Amino acid sequence: MNNDIEKILYTQEQVSNRISELATTISTKYQDEFPVVVPVMTGAMIFASELMQKLDFKLNIDYVDVSSYEDNSQSSGRVRLLRDLSHDVNGRSVLIVEDIIDSGHTLQFLNNLFASRGAKSIETCSLLDKPARREVDVDADYVGFKVPNEFIVGYGLDYDGRYRNMPYVGVLKRSVYEN
Ligand code: 5GP
Ligand code: MG
Ligand code: MG
Repeated sequence: MNNDIEKILYTQEQVSNRISELATTISTKYQDEFPVVVPVMTGAMIFASELMQKLDFKLNIDYVDVSSYEDNSQSSGRVRLLRDLSHDVNGRSVLIVEDIIDSGHTLQFLNNLFASRGAKSIETCSLLDKPARREVDVDADYVGFKVPNEFIVGYGLDYDGRYRNMPYVGVLKRSVYEN
């Protein structure tokens, strides 16, 4: 285990098993939908690549990249789109794939964006959910694991651009970011 990790919450095997379960559930609902699947870069990349390989229906893969403003003064302006879709989602079902739902601002922003473009349905699958930190009333439709209010890294999640490639979900030692 990496020396900067306080504890492992979910091993690679536990995560992979859970992703298989999520894929089975989602596959029963999307047989005739032909959705656009939209991972949110960069955090969702590792989770999404494994999930999408296990989805057993016709789909298109796209992606978006977003960033959160540090300045929290305008709630609607907290999220900025850095990379837009290449697909037109008008009349299409959209499945957003996220690494973690925290405050909920990112998900709310994307829901509003895709709804404004006429998406037929919008659902979200998130590897992790941190409900204790929610600031807006949004939830993922499919969640891998609920996590405590701690700083999580691994399986795509980073601190300062690092730890994304760790093949497990863990809690980062406070000493790494409290200096
Ligand atoms: P939101 O607050 O908009 O729901 O989540 C925005 C983003 O914050 C997430 O997609 C994720 O990139 C980041 N984030 C939230 N909580 C954590 C965490 O515990 N660890 C890491 N690495 N990123 C997080
Ligand atoms: Mg994210
Ligand atoms: Mg990040």
